[in-house]
Amino acid sequence: MLMKKVSFLFVFAPLHLLIFANAYAQTPKLIKTIVVDAGHGGTRDPGATGQYENSLRSQEKDVTLAIALKLVDELKKQIPNVNVIPTRTTDIYQSPTEKAKIANEYKGDLFLCIHADSGPLKQGRRKIGERTVTRYKISYKGKGKRKKKIKTPYEAIESVYEYFKMPLTRNGTSVWIFAAHKTSAKLQAIMDGDENFEIEANGVDSVDSGLDFRTPEGRTIAAIYAKRFQERSDRLATMVNEEIENTGRQALGVNQRQKGIWVLQATNMPAILIETGFINNPEDERYINSEKGQQELAEAITEAVKRYKAQVESANNVTPIR
Ligand SMILES: [Zn+2]
Repeated sequence: MLMKKVSFLFVFAPLHLLIFANAYAQTPKLIKTIVVDAGHGGTRDPGATGQYENSLRSQEKDVTLAIALKLVDELKKQIPNVNVIPTRTTDIYQSPTEKAKIANEYKGDLFLCIHADSGPLKQGRRKIGERTVTRYKISYKGKGKRKKKIKTPYEAIESVYEYFKMPLTRNGTSVWIFAAHKTSAKLQAIMDGDENFEIEANGVDSVDSGLDFRTPEGRTIAAIYAKRFQERSDRLATMVNEEIENTGRQALGVNQRQKGIWVLQATNMPAILIETGFINNPEDERYINSEKGQQELAEAITEAVKRYKAQVESANNVTPIR
């Protein structure tokens, strides 16, 4: 009896998952809601700041907000049938938990995080003048107990330096996705999500209410979603990188941060993070603070989202699970 039960499970379970995975892979999901997150915010979390000499002293939270707002406008203008949700539209503090919660509650199909990069700054110095100082030459006279220390003053010329923070030489835009080995956190976000996980079947919305992510089967299905989300995040990230490259900007490619990016893990949807430019690189800081640069970035990201959306939604484009 036990043997029979075991073999039944062995045959049934994988078959069931195969059908499920196949249905998911072949039925395109519509991109209906896009969540745009302006990274950081408020006095509690300003993010990185321009700190090199002659920097604009701009703050990451302001740059991310300006670009995110332009991106929201551009997405609405170019893809009118999608719902575009900004996590914030003003300078307010939000914890990463709150940001992820907004994305999950609005049932986003895409999560776009806007950030600006930074890095440790080296200290430089330059000579700004000279000054005369009195130094002492030490000599000794006598022997034994009578030994005496003699200090003879003399004048010396000393350089005067000014110290400053050197700007970063590194520049460019990079795109980040959640790390593969961190998919368990993504899995948890999926499992914590709506019990009535929405699945597209035959091009029509259907809700599989019988899905329980707490069961071993449900967990496997959640893992399929996590893998799928990662593939889709990677695909979109690649397109963003290509569109950045098309603007003539330095495109640094698609990366997986080893430490993991919490907000990308905690969202129940494909998610990417764009480091728009280095706030401590002079050209980049000026670019990400300029109307032109912000608009160019917003348009490049929008173009990538349009391409991604078209590819995902195209009924003719059946992408098998890689
Ligand atoms: Zn940041």
